[in-house]
Amino acid sequence: MTLLLRRGVLAAGAVALMAGCADSPASPSVADDARAVAQVVDGITASEFTRMLGVIAADSMRGRGTPSREVELTALYVAAAFQSAGLTPAGDNGTFVQRFTLSALASNPTATAPNVVAVLEGSDPAKRSEYLYVTAHLDHVGVTGGGQNCAANGADSICNGANDNGSGTVAVMQLARAFGALPVRPARTLVFAAFSGEERGLWGSAYLAAHPPKPLAQTVAVVNIDMIGRNASDSVVIVGKTYSTIGAVTDQVTKAHPELGMRLVNDPWNGTYFTRSDQYSFAKLGVPSVFFFNGPHTDVHTARDDVPLVNGDIAARSIKMVFHTVRELANATSRPVWDAASKARWAPGVP
Ligand SMILES: [Zn+2]
Repeated sequence: MTLLLRRGVLAAGAVALMAGCADSPASPSVADDARAVAQVVDGITASEFTRMLGVIAADSMRGRGTPSREVELTALYVAAAFQSAGLTPAGDNGTFVQRFTLSALASNPTATAPNVVAVLEGSDPAKRSEYLYVTAHLDHVGVTGGGQNCAANGADSICNGANDNGSGTVAVMQLARAFGALPVRPARTLVFAAFSGEERGLWGSAYLAAHPPKPLAQTVAVVNIDMIGRNASDSVVIVGKTYSTIGAVTDQVTKAHPELGMRLVNDPWNGTYFTRSDQYSFAKLGVPSVFFFNGPHTDVHTARDDVPLVNGDIAARSIKMVFHTVRELANATSRPVWDAASKARWAPGVP
């Protein structure tokens, strides 16, 4: 398929040269772009997903509680992925890490924790000062007795948080690499962020929303990913789908990509989960936001949420759908708009 497409592009170029139109038309570059998109999407594989998940959800990472040495190691792992994807650091002092103080943590109010933040500059001079955030939380609830509600499973006291939210963390790393590999970047600038402190109460995302690397007023949308590797194999829920015109974009992506066998569907829980992940930190400040979520399960916040129960194929196809959604939003002529009633519900008082 790829080879045929490449030949077709070369043939079109040769015809254009023979016809004396060397400064030729948009069509070869459009074909080029479609081929490049197909290639980077093919690079989001289940095996790579599972390999990276095995690193951050290993027992040695001790459930990535906030704060901990292991949540710091996870942040460094994500930062290395952002760096090798060619992204620009957007944390403190030219690094990928944005550090915040856990002042709400009564037992250790001077402790700190990391967010990991990076930017991929947009290609369109007219749109690159508008931003689209792609986010996930990298922390989890640590180990039983660690003060974060990790339920043991027999002798196993480590809450690996493989699905919650190793799956979303790996998604952000794979998306960074895919977008970073595109020869033509999306029109708008992408901001990739991985938060800690989510399980404590959205702490990292609240801090980043209050100290954004790029202005929230020019932020067109937040696409968050939390728990995408279990449950249904033919659909992923877009929590917040009906709250803004992002929903129409996800419908379009579902129609355009039947080959992935992964429909983007509406939240069947009427918003129950919307306040429970990091997109809410941005939505309540007025930024149209959604979160990709494959639904709750009884292993959440227990030592059973471990790597073998996460389905790499479901996750990889979901991540490909996130890629297409983000790319559409980043290239769209106009930015997403809230539905008025939803804005009144989730971001009351925000002009
Ligand atoms: Zn959780």
